[in-house]
Amino acid sequence: MRYGGNTASVIVEVHGEAPILFDLGTGLRLLGETLPISPFSASALVTHIHWDHVQGLPFFPQIHVPGNKLDIYGPAQADGTLADVFGGLMKPPYFPIHFSQLQGDVRFIDVMSDEMAIGNAKVLVRPVPHVGPTVGYRLDWDGRSVAYISDHQAPCTAGDNPQPTTQIDEGVLELCDGVDLMIHDAQYTPTEFAQKSYWGHCTIDYALSIAKRAGVKTFAMFHHDPGHSDAQMDQLVEDAKCKGRAIGIPEVIGTYEGLVVDL
Ligand SMILES: [Zn+2]
Ligand SMILES: [Zn+2]
Repeated sequence: MRYGGNTASVIVEVHGEAPILFDLGTGLRLLGETLPISPFSASALVTHIHWDHVQGLPFFPQIHVPGNKLDIYGPAQADGTLADVFGGLMKPPYFPIHFSQLQGDVRFIDVMSDEMAIGNAKVLVRPVPHVGPTVGYRLDWDGRSVAYISDHQAPCTAGDNPQPTTQIDEGVLELCDGVDLMIHDAQYTPTEFAQKSYWGHCTIDYALSIAKRAGVKTFAMFHHDPGHSDAQMDQLVEDAKCKGRAIGIPEVIGTYEGLVVDL
């Protein structure tokens, strides 16, 4: 009720520039209602095409208006390009129309390990360990930096009771190096991780270890487990804040639906 039930959908805004979206989860419909309907032009940086990261696209009001533009960046999959796999998701019988029949102009651009510019934003893309081809993003824009790593599989020990290890992928460290804000997977407790160690996610402790190693200023806990209640979330966030203080991370935030972070 308080943290929210929608899936990954984040917007980065800089005054006077077209917005950049991170992922297209179910939160996108509600987000779209807060944005100008037309004219509208934006870019979306999609980490991967699991349902919880793409299901909001058909319900984003802006793509149903002629003249509007949305450029969607993301990793190609084993089954084809980003456009191919989105075309397999957004078509009858799953949705009344194929994305090519939309009123707005939606384009797909494959990325994996790239450095590029979107407007005045510098964008770094690196592969991130998860289940299936997945990337993370770093934006440097107007003197501020944000890393977005929503789904991240922590390396774990082998055996019947796998435990997360502290190894960190070099690409992930590159994305997070000294950022003002790191939006990162914080799905599991150690007990949950032991049961779901191959589900593509990590513990809050692992995310804290990345924030520490990378010298992150603010760690925003993201991609909460859908089974956690508000009361459990309050406790997990409080624990993470304490641990963060103890290891010298300036700020830890438990993200919730509608949260605005001013950089
Ligand atoms: Zn995923
Ligand atoms: Zn996910």
